[in-house]
Amino acid sequence: MMKIKVNENFSRVKESYLFSEIGKKVRAYQAAHPDKAVIRLGIGDVTLPLAPVVVDAMKKAVEEMGVKETFRGYPPEYGHTFLREAIAAYYARKGIKVAADDVFVSDGAKSDVGNIVDILGRNTVLIPSPVYPVYMDSNLMSGNRIELLEAGEADGFLGTPDVLDGETYVIYICSPNNPTGAVYDRAGLKAWVDYALTSGSLIIFDSAYEAFIKGDYPHSIYEIEGAEKCAIEICSFSKMAGFTGTRCAWTVVPETLTTEEGFNLKKMWARRQATKFNGVSYPVQRGAEAALTQEGVKQCAALVDYYMENAKIISEMLTKKGVWHTGGVSSPYIWLKCPNGMSSWEFFDLLLEKVQVVGTPGEGFGEAGEGFFRLTAFGSRENTIEATKRLESIL
Ligand code: PLP
Repeated sequence: MMKIKVNENFSRVKESYLFSEIGKKVRAYQAAHPDKAVIRLGIGDVTLPLAPVVVDAMKKAVEEMGVKETFRGYPPEYGHTFLREAIAAYYARKGIKVAADDVFVSDGAKSDVGNIVDILGRNTVLIPSPVYPVYMDSNLMSGNRIELLEAGEADGFLGTPDVLDGETYVIYICSPNNPTGAVYDRAGLKAWVDYALTSGSLIIFDSAYEAFIKGDYPHSIYEIEGAEKCAIEICSFSKMAGFTGTRCAWTVVPETLTTEEGFNLKKMWARRQATKFNGVSYPVQRGAEAALTQEGVKQCAALVDYYMENAKIISEMLTKKGVWHTGGVSSPYIWLKCPNGMSSWEFFDLLLEKVQVVGTPGEGFGEAGEGFFRLTAFGSRENTIEATKRLESIL
């Protein structure tokens, strides 16, 4: 028997990640009912292919890798300059100031969200509930003290700092929110930035769904004055450009993020990445660069529009059936209240058993998600229409 010590904090997290649990249940159901066609509106994975400009750029990059003169070995740990500059230009087109040198390219927002704890010490972490489960699990694994910021129907699933007493926190914000689809407006985000500045807190802002925003809402925390002194932003090509299987994301760590003890967060993140990460492949970075060109943004917006039409189809049916729900406007997620006071896993089982539609139980996103359920708009049009009909028949 080994005598080594392990990270005992792992006993604080649930044995299986939410989506592994769902997968297990669906596989068991399919094995028992091979004749039934299951429609998955559960996991937030995209289904449409990459935009043509992205494919062309990646093909060209692969060709370059096959020629001696243009072959490239290890990429720079922080991303190729062309992509860091393209990301800075993407912000600039929205009127947001982000320096290319503050942008760190990575293989996914999940990696960055999970790894950022490496450069932070023992803080109290403030995590919204319900929210993307990785914030909670990565902090549990690190043994950090966690406080929940519960949100609900009453506040439109948008927690505010009004309930806080000035304590210093590491604050996670996801806007548009996964799973609820709630988006902060300028005043809402400003309240968080002001709180962070006066309390000496750090905001970790996850903008993975910014490309889905409709209307006049901030796409980036850096639209708010002072955010460069208190916020890190993490964004991803996964949902905006269909890169879930291609893998590319970025994190902005402004040069101006310093602690009173004299630590510079950008320097620390650079050191962390240089030590533990060896960069994203060249063809993928060329594809990501193409997604941010004006033509790329246009083609990717067409993918987003397709999904948002799906969201509309689901949302209209729920409205017709009188089911309380939110989201589906500035996010690809529909967040609904389980009917008849059912728990979210009860509702999951009911949908799987009776109509073979898979969604995500709200409880998996935190305690405040209990009694709610997430459907995604990422399916094909045919599957979304069929699933909507099936749902309509039992709601
Ligand atoms: N952040 C949020 C809020 C997400 O919902 C997801 C994926 O679903 C991610 C980050 C992960 O993105 P990536 O595919 O870049 O790892």
